[in-house]
Amino acid sequence: MTTTPVEADWDNAPSVLEGARTLELSPQDCNLPYWLRHVAGTMLRRLSDGSVPDAGPTEAVRTPGPLRDAIIDEFTFRHLAEEKATRALSFAVFHSPETDDLEFFATQLIDEARHARAFREHLLRLDLSAAEIEAAVAHTAATSAAAVLDPLEEFGLQVLRDQGDFHGGVLVLTVLVEGVLAPAAELSERKWRPLDPSAALVERGANMDEIRHLAVGSSVVRRYLTEHSEQRPRLLDLVMEGRRLWEKLPMQEVLFRRESLFQEGLAQHAGLIGDYEIWPGRRLVDTSIEERMEAAERWSRETQETRLEYMLLSDAPR
Ligand code: FE
Ligand code: FE
Repeated sequence: MTTTPVEADWDNAPSVLEGARTLELSPQDCNLPYWLRHVAGTMLRRLSDGSVPDAGPTEAVRTPGPLRDAIIDEFTFRHLAEEKATRALSFAVFHSPETDDLEFFATQLIDEARHARAFREHLLRLDLSAAEIEAAVAHTAATSAAAVLDPLEEFGLQVLRDQGDFHGGVLVLTVLVEGVLAPAAELSERKWRPLDPSAALVERGANMDEIRHLAVGSSVVRRYLTEHSEQRPRLLDLVMEGRRLWEKLPMQEVLFRRESLFQEGLAQHAGLIGDYEIWPGRRLVDTSIEERMEAAERWSRETQETRLEYMLLSDAPR
């Protein structure tokens, strides 16, 4: 009998906010045997054998309207982000200096490909046809993903593919991509729970993986900087460059549009949501667009700061 480590345990894993800030995991901890046993063997099995209850989407998201539009917008965007991450990770695998790194990033590559599929497949449960999903993905790819994800991808690939800079690439993926997206995913998990419990479950599953990705990615950078302190200025520059890029990306607009649709749906289906609290003491029905956006923004700032500190890059200027 093997015991399941807490981060791969459906019933006890911390939230992505907590886990992404506190958990310490290395590529040596999360190698291929670990992934096969605890992720494929336990986490994914429990998701498919019905022992993790899945109530399914409610009527509110299955009928055409603003809520359904909001989740289509969000999940097509996530699908595209996860696909881009999968492709970028092939270069992290290629440039892995050691076997443990290679094994860990190979598992992360599979994780992201699974996420891409899970976000896309969820749309089938909202009664969209395959052709409608394809059209929705193409629409998001040409609009919000083109504006936000394409420039990020280009930045990451310059480092990882063009310069073959493994540690710089891991830093970009961990801090600038996962570190920003994971707290947004936490918000998503919480806000969909009463309206589409299975969407929340898709997020939860992806978030449990993200905890591992963030923890291991930052331990890779920390170890590298412990052994090569002369590389700090270079990696600090990369963080700064990435932040400058983020400032130019219209992510707030993308989120505002999405949260506006959600807000409309919130008003329509207030009865269904009832007293459900998005965080302790705050009913989801009472929240505003700005309030939810601010929470996600604060969480991602805090997650980034804690992780940068752990990576010995806490003095990265803002
Ligand atoms: Fe992912
Ligand atoms: Fe990830």
